[in-house]
Amino acid sequence: MAASYDCGRCPAYCCSYPRVIVSKRDLKRLARHFGLDLETARRRFTKKGEKKGERVLRHRKDHIYKSVCRFLDRQDRSCTVYEARPKICRQYPGEPACGYYDFLSFERRAQEDPEFIPSA
Ligand code: SF4
Ligand code: SF4
Repeated sequence: MAASYDCGRCPAYCCSYPRVIVSKRDLKRLARHFGLDLETARRRFTKKGEKKGERVLRHRKDHIYKSVCRFLDRQDRSCTVYEARPKICRQYPGEPACGYYDFLSFERRAQEDPEFIPSA
C-alpha cells in the first residue's frame, strides 16, 4: 500500500524522539561510515538509554522541537547519515500512515497554510 505521508513536507518530527536505539550492528555501520573505531563512535554518537545497557543517539538543540538527533540537518530537515542510519530509522513508521503527518496535515488545512508547523 502506498504511504499516505510525505517526509519531505515534514520537519522530521520522528528525529526528535529522545529514544532512537542504536544496536551494536547500527554502531558498526555508523563507525564504518565515519572511518572511526567502535568505541569512539559509541562515545561520540550515543549516550545511555533508559534501559540497562541501551544506547541511544545523542541530541542537540533545535529551533522547531526542543532537541533533535545530532545527525539531523536542522536547516533542510534531512538525515545526514541516511545510508548509515540505524535500523529503527529505516523501519519507521512501519505502516502506510504516520500519525504525526496526519496531525500536521490537519493543522495545515485548519490554518489554511501549507507550510504551517505546530509549535512543539
Ligand atoms: S514524523 Fe512521519 S512524516 Fe515526519 S519525517 Fe517522520 S515518518 Fe516522515
Ligand atoms: S539517524 Fe537520521 S533518521 Fe535517524 S533519528 Fe537521526 S537524523 Fe533521524
